[in-house]
Amino acid sequence: MKLNKIALWGMALLMALSLSACTKNKSETRELFAMDTYMTLTACGDSADKALDDAVRLINENDARWSVTRPESELSHLNAQKSAAVSEETKRLLGRASEMSAFTDGAFDPTVYPLVKAWGFTTGAHWVPGDSEIRSLLDLVGMEKLSLSGAEASLSGGAQIDLGGIAKGYTGDMVLSLLRKAGVKSAIVNLGGNVQTLGSKPDGSAWRIGIRSPYGSSLLGTVEVRNMCVITSGAYERSFTAPDGTVYGHIISPFTGRPVQNACVSSTVVAEEGATADALSTALFVMGPEKAAEFWKAHGGFEFLMLDDQGTLYVTEGILSSFTPANGGDVKTVCEIKR
Ligand code: AMP
Ligand code: MG
Repeated sequence: MKLNKIALWGMALLMALSLSACTKNKSETRELFAMDTYMTLTACGDSADKALDDAVRLINENDARWSVTRPESELSHLNAQKSAAVSEETKRLLGRASEMSAFTDGAFDPTVYPLVKAWGFTTGAHWVPGDSEIRSLLDLVGMEKLSLSGAEASLSGGAQIDLGGIAKGYTGDMVLSLLRKAGVKSAIVNLGGNVQTLGSKPDGSAWRIGIRSPYGSSLLGTVEVRNMCVITSGAYERSFTAPDGTVYGHIISPFTGRPVQNACVSSTVVAEEGATADALSTALFVMGPEKAAEFWKAHGGFEFLMLDDQGTLYVTEGILSSFTPANGGDVKTVCEIKR
């Protein structure tokens, strides 16, 4: 099973690479495994080599800060001690996570962590908790339980935080900012399916990004973007089948305490900023197709593509002309969402 997943990821990476790599000679690539996923960074230009080495270092530093499975991480200390000194980077990310939680009316909420653990998603020892356990763990959920003061972060009421729904997008933003400062004008970073681009391809054309199908290693289609992030959430990434046949995925509804069970099978957000796109892809997944469309109409500032369990791909009007469905893929119908 694990090998299968690794093979799938390898194929997904290859597809992303073949669709996106720099075309001119002076391009550099780094591959690494960090934040529990495979990552590929490609940058073009004279300064790319050193800048990418710095980017790899930065990603590993962030992994060491924000991993909930590493007991020595800043986040693990905060979760264990309830009050801990945090670095400027961690404070900023916690602040962004709080903003995104408020913006999405709580659909994105990193304090679902006790529930993520109760359902066994951190250890792989999956389990369906009882109703009373879920109810008592729901009392621990809510980003208002986090307070930031000076260099200190505190959690009240037994709350614990998991930044897995935003940390990769935020890290992508840090990587692109590092590359930009180093003079790189054209780059694409793929942090485990979170694709973030800097500028356009060296020949001036748009980057073509493959959106993975939730049903296997094929693609739903491609989107063409410049200077944009394309970030996908899907329950298929980590899921398990309970004895009664129900399939449970790793995105938890902060409202029910249960893995999301709605018509959404995959949610992709296209936005300028990775942290926003990452948190929104998770939040829209929680909302499901109808509420996600209402949310987009009310707020804007991003575009999204959402596949439902009937094979309908909902695509917002701002990204529709940049999207090409894959031939013979899992998309049966494309439905435009207009303002
Ligand atoms: P993503 O792949 O970006 O959608 O993030 C999913 C990960 O975020 C999960 O593996 C959990 O660690 C965490 N998570 C699950 N549900 C939520 C939620 N409703 N809000 C924020 N983070 C969540
Ligand atoms: Mg996310």
